[in-house]
Amino acid sequence: MKMPSHHMLEKYAELALKTGVNLQKDQYLMINSTIEGAEFTRVIVQKAFEMGAKDVHINWGDDAITRMKYEYADQETLSDVPQWQKDQYTYFAENGAAILSVRSTDPDLLKGIDAGKIAAANKARAEAMSEFRKYTMNDRIQWSIVSIPIPAWSQKIFPGEDEDTAVEKLWEQIFSIVRVDKEDPVAAWEEHNQTLVTAREYLNKKQYKQLSYTAPGTNLTVDLPKGHIWKGGPAKTEGQGVQFNPNMPTEEVFTAPHKYGVNGTVSSTKPLNYGGNVIDDFSLTFKDGKVVDFTAKEGEETLKHLLETDEGSRRLGELALVPHESPISQSGLIFYNTLYDENASCHLALGKAYPNNMTGGSDMNEEELDQAGVNDSLSHVDFMMGSGELDIDGVLEDGTTEPVMRKGSWAISFE
Ligand code: ZN
Ligand code: ZN
Repeated sequence: MKMPSHHMLEKYAELALKTGVNLQKDQYLMINSTIEGAEFTRVIVQKAFEMGAKDVHINWGDDAITRMKYEYADQETLSDVPQWQKDQYTYFAENGAAILSVRSTDPDLLKGIDAGKIAAANKARAEAMSEFRKYTMNDRIQWSIVSIPIPAWSQKIFPGEDEDTAVEKLWEQIFSIVRVDKEDPVAAWEEHNQTLVTAREYLNKKQYKQLSYTAPGTNLTVDLPKGHIWKGGPAKTEGQGVQFNPNMPTEEVFTAPHKYGVNGTVSSTKPLNYGGNVIDDFSLTFKDGKVVDFTAKEGEETLKHLLETDEGSRRLGELALVPHESPISQSGLIFYNTLYDENASCHLALGKAYPNNMTGGSDMNEEELDQAGVNDSLSHVDFMMGSGELDIDGVLEDGTTEPVMRKGSWAISFE
């Protein structure tokens, strides 16, 4: 696989460590990486030690072996997550590690594998990780996700290109979208973060009680719970207030929808890569927050299993606004990768809400979160429904309506 220059890899690694997880001196770093990213991951490890990391632990993943397991192992085996694996994650979380994922996967990795088998394994894994997920979803630790090209993914985005060309083109896109090609990427991110902070502060002041979406195939109202908090850009750890960026790239501001206050129909605008399968051209109809009907031209079985994960997987846990002129959207590409596609487009997520999207949410128990309208589930899956044809109106507490987005762009100026 053709790789970019060592200099560019170093810039990317440094950005992931400084702006992404914001690694501190004497801190543990845990990296989840694909073996195809070994060269880049070694650069990260080198940089991490130079920055004073206490130690770096890597969990290697391999698409080819993952596929073999799904082909040969039975459902029961696939659904059995050993205690030591859970312990490994909680060990690093409890010891204040920063967690960095170098995530890249073939969008069609599990094509043809029984959707029920995949759903059962995903659910078991989500259950096993529920303790650890409290650390990430409540920002108790610094965590971040970055992506690198692998051949299968690159060729899905650039069909018809040979492997080397597709990979090279994707590196170019990633470097541009994540601002690695800027002279000082860390400074470029500071400026970008400020834009997102301004937008979220504006929305936090407004406290809209409802957002209403209109686009071809979409006619949806989403209530926002009282006390909801818009987040976006940099996050801060709960205890020590260390700033980090959970997603690179990120272009979204997001909050928690009211789990019982979603009504109408929403249509997807981009394919969704879920658990090694693609769901495309789908629509969901909600009544009082719950999906009561759905269709999909591709991957309907996968969508059905996703919705059936548990009670909360039929309700919304995130509502995110992304202007249509975002760099990812401007690339005109479909990435078949949620980290990228969600940052090209307004989106919603089925499943668990981030408790800290609600005032006092991280201190609420399950019952209190439910009463506040904050959804809970084993799943959290973003899907894209934004486009250049999307209009969003905000309804204020006194019932006044004002435009929030027109044709996919902000209709408000943040000054
Ligand atoms: Zn999102
Ligand atoms: Zn999300």
